[in-house]
Amino acid sequence: MSSPLVSLAGIERRYPRAEREVRALAGVDLEIARGELIALTGPSGSGKSTLLHVIGLLETPNAGTYRFDGEDVSHLDDDARSLRRGRDIGFVFQAFHLISHRTIRENVELPLAYGGIDEPARRTRALRALATVGLESRTDHRPGELSGGEQQRAAIARALVGEPRLLLADEPTGNLDERTADGILELFRAVHADGTTVVLVTHDERVAAIAGRRLALAEGRFVESGPPSPALRETSRQRGEVSGGTTSPFGERSEAKPPGEGEGS
Ligand code: ADP
Ligand code: MG
Repeated sequence: MSSPLVSLAGIERRYPRAEREVRALAGVDLEIARGELIALTGPSGSGKSTLLHVIGLLETPNAGTYRFDGEDVSHLDDDARSLRRGRDIGFVFQAFHLISHRTIRENVELPLAYGGIDEPARRTRALRALATVGLESRTDHRPGELSGGEQQRAAIARALVGEPRLLLADEPTGNLDERTADGILELFRAVHADGTTVVLVTHDERVAAIAGRRLALAEGRFVESGPPSPALRETSRQRGEVSGGTTSPFGERSEAKPPGEGEGS
């Protein structure tokens, strides 16, 4: 049997704070098999984005081991992580994070520019990715000229242009109305059907419903996982009652900053 695509053991992520340290991830174990479609849920501040950023090699854990495709990536330096990310991982954000002064095609080409692919090949691949998401007629527009749903499609094309093995999306339908969200969901489903491993962070029940497996975080730990069994449902309901009415001791924070923010639209 092949090793899991992602294997996390005892992952912790702490952030220094003036008053007291924040434990965004308090010991997470997770194995993701190739070809899975996972929904990651949990209240605001429970560590969903942090976990996605760790899996996406945007953040390094303070403790624990992360193996990607069997290789220990827990201690890679920035360059090595960027390289890995560029080769294997696509990321989609709630707020799209397209660069506003560049065209849609240029936005989608951007990840390839770091990979030493020449300009004509970049263009061809970007146009192909844009066709996959149904944006072939919008390639020369700027992000501001597109609807939210179209911008998210462009962001998905950008995430897919490098043909990643793992696609990570942080509340990708959070800024979209229901009908638009359905179209985006359909895209994720198609990407998954094509063989890509997908992890979606979501508050949306309908999004979670398309997943093969659901994971729920609370205060930096999983509170339930795997196929729901009656015993498990009981346990999580009890846990839910305990944590349901309380706010996270870590407080609130605005959406995590992705790389390159500031240029986004
Ligand atoms: P979620 O995505 O589930 O809303 P996050 O992963 O964004 O949760 O955050 C988990 C906890 O970690 C929160 O308490 C948040 O305030 C804290 N946190 C996350 N990133 C940072 C950071 N860069 N600096 C300080 N605290 C952070
Ligand atoms: Mg978040």
